[in-house]
Order: sequence, then C-alpha cells, then structure tokens
Amino acid sequence: MQTIGYAAANPEAPLAPYTFERRALRANDVAMEVLYCGVCHSDLHSARNDWGWSSYPLVPGHEIVGRVIAVGSEVRRYKEGDRVAVGCMVDSCQHCDQCHKGEEQLCREGNTGTYNGRDRITGEATAGGYSKHLVVREEFVLSVPDALDIAKAAPLLCAGITTWSPLRTWNVGPDSRVAVIGLGGLGHMAVKLAVGLGAKVTVLSRSLDKAADARELGAHALLVSTDATAMAEAGSSFDLIIDTVPVKHDLNLYTPLLDVDGTLVIVGQIGPMEEMSTTPLLLGRRRIAGSPIGGIRETQEMLDFCAEKNILPDVEMIRMDQINAAFDRMEESDVRYRFVIDMASLERSQ
Ligand code: NAP
Ligand code: ZN
Repeated sequence: MQTIGYAAANPEAPLAPYTFERRALRANDVAMEVLYCGVCHSDLHSARNDWGWSSYPLVPGHEIVGRVIAVGSEVRRYKEGDRVAVGCMVDSCQHCDQCHKGEEQLCREGNTGTYNGRDRITGEATAGGYSKHLVVREEFVLSVPDALDIAKAAPLLCAGITTWSPLRTWNVGPDSRVAVIGLGGLGHMAVKLAVGLGAKVTVLSRSLDKAADARELGAHALLVSTDATAMAEAGSSFDLIIDTVPVKHDLNLYTPLLDVDGTLVIVGQIGPMEEMSTTPLLLGRRRIAGSPIGGIRETQEMLDFCAEKNILPDVEMIRMDQINAAFDRMEESDVRYRFVIDMASLERSQ
C-alpha cells in the first residue's frame, strides 16, 4: 500500500513530505489509519541523529493512535473500526525470557523500533507515525479505551508508558515521595501518573515559570534546581526521582535529594553525563538506574489506568506542516506539554 508521511532525508534536513510503501498485510498484521501522532523529544533526537544510530529517510513518530482499516486472516483481537494505538516498538523475538515476561522492550534480541528499525522478516526499514497509514503485527497493537479522548491520548504511548514503567517498578503508591526532573512531555505525564497512584510529587525545574502549572498537574511543590538553599533543604527527602532531562547534565545536583535506598531513575539523556561524585551514593545508600519505555502488557495497564482515573496529556494540536517549528519550540522547552499532530492535516501538507 502506498502511503504518505513526513521524513528527514538527513540529519540537517527539515522534515518534508515523503511517499513510501507500507507492507502488504501478513496474516497477523493490523493496518490502521493514523489519526493523531504525538511529538516526542526522541523524534527530534532521531531526526537529527543525536544518538548516532539513525538511518535515512527517517519517518519519526511513536505516539500513535488511530482506527483499524484492515486485519490479516489470523488476527483475532481487532477488527475494522476499532480504536487502536501503537507505541515505540512494533516487534520483538517473542521467545526469550523477557518477551515471555511481557517485557518486550528488553527483548534479548533487541526490540524492533516503530521507526529507524528493521523489519524482522524482510529487513526493510520501519517508518513511524508521521504518516497516514501503519501496518503492525497484532501483538504490538494496543486498545484505546472508550473513555479516553483519542485526540489527546497519543502521548500516553511513549511519554505515558516511559514514566509509568518506573513508577510501577519502584512500587510507587500513597506513601511515596516522588520528584520529577524537567517538566516537559515525559515530566508532566510522570506528575499526573504519580499523583494518580497517590504519591506526593515535587517538580524540579530550571525556573519558577512552570510553578502554577505544576500545582495544576497535581504536584505538591516545584523546586528550582538552581536554588541552592531550596535544594539543600530538600536533602534526603525523596524515594524516587524520575530524570527526564534530554541532554547531558549534572547529577550531583540531584543525588543528595534521595533518601536512604532511594533511586534516581534516568529516562531522559541517553549517553554521557557530566562527571559525578559517588559520595552521596555510598554514604546514603542511594541508587542510580535507567529505564526504557515499557512492555506491551504494562502499556495496556497504563491506558486502562488513565481511562479509569481520567488522566490525559496536556496537548497542543499542530498541523503536519508545522512539525519543524514544533521541533524548534520543543528544543526551547516551549511546549505545554506535548505537541500532537492532527493527521487529517497531512494530505493538505503535501
Ligand atoms: P521535552 O518535552 O523537551 O521535556 C524535557 C524537559 O527537560 C524540558 O521541558 C525541561 O524542563 C527540561 N530540560 C530541557 N533542557 C534542559 C537542560 N538543558 N537542562 C536541564 N533541564 C532541561 O522532552 P521529552 O519528550 O519529555 O523527552 C525527554 C527525554 O526523554 C528525551 O531525551 C527523550 O529522547 C527521552 N525519552 C526516553 C525514553 C525512554 O524510553 N527512556 C522514552 C521517551 C523519551 P524544565 O523547563 O522544567 O526544566
Ligand atoms: Zn518517545
């Protein structure tokens, strides 16, 4: 099937209209029309090859919601017309211990990225949700609960699950004291989900600009990370810190904020960090960890939780042809708190 989308031709090129083929349906495939696609900071990192593993042309987008338009002969869970979603992965080996546990993101053979990956059967490049159609094997398709507004739900598929997974891994609940570094796409979902789980949440931001927003999102407080006095007063006061900062940064600011046995989990920067001291880790038995997205079962659990608790991202809807300006604004942290592309605008943007 021929489809249209937006792609980066190389790391320096702005995204531009792109026509390409989606594979013919396999027996276990679901074909969907993409209705909305969230804009993740990873899309920007990938388009610009910040991590050094991008291949081109690159069609970003891994916060995808839409409607089923066709299913393969063996598909049982979905039918034409269903509201469905796809996140950051479209395949995995399905037979290793991690896949068996529902942790496909940790597949021993590597999961297949929704974009910038390679199809496990043909080796062709995968292409993401900045496109009109998507073809994905059934096991990697999520169901969008009726209670969720589909125009706002897309960011749950990456920003939502990437913050939900550590909240669950570290058993966040009513007695937990959680801090979130960086109030962007991931950060604002971390706040909403942790509040939904009953935790007491503090935002660590670079300025006071987002203080009112933080309170509206349900956070108890916003601490300015450059305010040395306030940071010193907050020493040893968190069980879990979720770090969403998208660039190399200084962890020395944050590790002393953890209580004994507390964990700072990095979900933002992939790659080098500023040099850091281990002293607060050793003396306070504090931990640093990392966490990639989340499994399919856990993603469905998060979608159902959001439906039950009426949790949705705060979105700014854009047209497809506004994507390059949106990338620039995201880099300036000028988004409250996630851009979502209305895919109906795509045909007009060709
Ligand atoms: P985003 O919307 O741009 O938000 C990032 C936030 O970090 C900003 O709003 C800002 O918050 C803070 N920040 C930005 N630049 C900073 C700097 N130089 N120093 C300190 N703080 C800074 O990005 P996002 O979509 O949430 O993504 C965040 C990161 O997570 C990206 O690197 C993305 O690639 C990564 N990611 C990882 C996974 C995973 O599986 N682990 C999944 C998705 C995304 P304040 O203005 O409040 O300071
Ligand atoms: Zn993402």
